[in-house]
Amino acid sequence: MTSRQEIKEGVEALCRRYPGEYWRALDRERLYPEAFVRELTIAGYLGCLIPEEFGGAGLSLGDACVILEEINRSGGNSAACHAQMYTMGTLLRHGSPEQKRRYLPAIAAGELRLQAFGVTEPNAGSDTTRITTTAARRGDRYLVTGQKTFISRVQHSDLMILLARTTPREQVQKRTDGLSVFLVDLRAAGDRLRVRPVETMVNHETNELFFDGLEVPVENLIGEEGKGFHYILSGMNAERILIASESVGDGRFFVERASEYARERVVFDRRIGENQGVQFPIARAHMNVEAAAAIRDRAADRYDRGEPCGAEANMAKYLASEAAWEAGNAAMTTFGGYGMASEYDVERKFREARLFLVAPVANNLVLSHVAQHVLGMPKSF
Ligand SMILES: Cc1cc2nc3c(=O)[nH]c(=O)nc-3n(C[C@H](O)[C@H](O)[C@H](O)COP(=O)(O)OP(=O)(O)OC[C@H]3O[C@@H](n4cnc5c(N)ncnc54)[C@H](O)[C@@H]3O)c2cc1C
Repeated sequence: MTSRQEIKEGVEALCRRYPGEYWRALDRERLYPEAFVRELTIAGYLGCLIPEEFGGAGLSLGDACVILEEINRSGGNSAACHAQMYTMGTLLRHGSPEQKRRYLPAIAAGELRLQAFGVTEPNAGSDTTRITTTAARRGDRYLVTGQKTFISRVQHSDLMILLARTTPREQVQKRTDGLSVFLVDLRAAGDRLRVRPVETMVNHETNELFFDGLEVPVENLIGEEGKGFHYILSGMNAERILIASESVGDGRFFVERASEYARERVVFDRRIGENQGVQFPIARAHMNVEAAAAIRDRAADRYDRGEPCGAEANMAKYLASEAAWEAGNAAMTTFGGYGMASEYDVERKFREARLFLVAPVANNLVLSHVAQHVLGMPKSF
């Protein structure tokens, strides 16, 4: 049994070999952190949620949170590889024994990457049931046609979990029915799948995907046809809790760097941290990050005990991403002009932390979830 403290120290030691200069150089060139992800995989961290019978470490979600949080706290960017942790749940919970035998040991061994998750479409946005990418059954295959956007890490992944419509929306009783999940082998996609990178303000390999009759073998359907939305939904609590952990890591990074700078930087013959105008925003951000971490812990504990945790998972994602953003602003202000200078890593992390206000779910949608499902207010959409 490895304790959480040992996991944290192990990840911290690994991250020390990938300091700010490493991430800055990649950011400048918009390159993928290949060496970092490889080392993280070989060390077993990326396959940590895979049960031991399939060659993984069989750790809990709470343990996985420690890994992602520590990467971000140390100044790295776990968004380059976090999806392998949360996409795994779909395969683990809903995959057939044959699918698990075929893929999980190879993923755990680092021979295969399952890092891509294809849900978002340009014309559906947050309204997932409106997706129009279709998978039509033709004998022993499905033919996938349509378009996705913002699908990350496709060029650094072997497999992708894909959500597509198998029954038109107008032919199902509930709009959440008729969607199915597939395990797509990206290596076999050929020219039936075109990938066009989307440039963003962060170094995040994300893409538009164009499917033109991509063939997916029937045995790559996960679970039952038509139930895919429910499978994706069942993985969302884990995803929210893991993302919250990345934000907690970002928040702690900003608070640590800002307090250190405020202790040392001297202006008007005094350390800037002696001014309460500088201290208070950092102290406030610290409290909010730690409060978010506490809700995240509660969410992860409930998840690991198999208890309902939708409320806590959503609150953790919202609170942690907002707290990290607040901490990022406090750090930017504390650093003055140097906040904008790349060499301090604050501006890079500031851009990276911003992503989690909108992805993988926009915070307004989280508020709406809490209003409707936790507080019982009327449905608004
Ligand atoms: C860098 C990056 C990486 C990503 N990676 C992936 C990935 O790997 N796979 C994937 O599937 N997706 C990915 N996404 C997509 C991401 O999940 C979506 O951007 C996000 O879910 C929001 O969808 P949208 O951008 O279409 O916004 P929209 O749904 O168009 O929303 C726009 C704004 O309107 C607000 N809004 C919309 N409806 C309501 C409402 N009813 N009430 C109140 N406010 C509302 C939203 O909160 C948001 O602020 C990524 C996005 C980015 C930027």
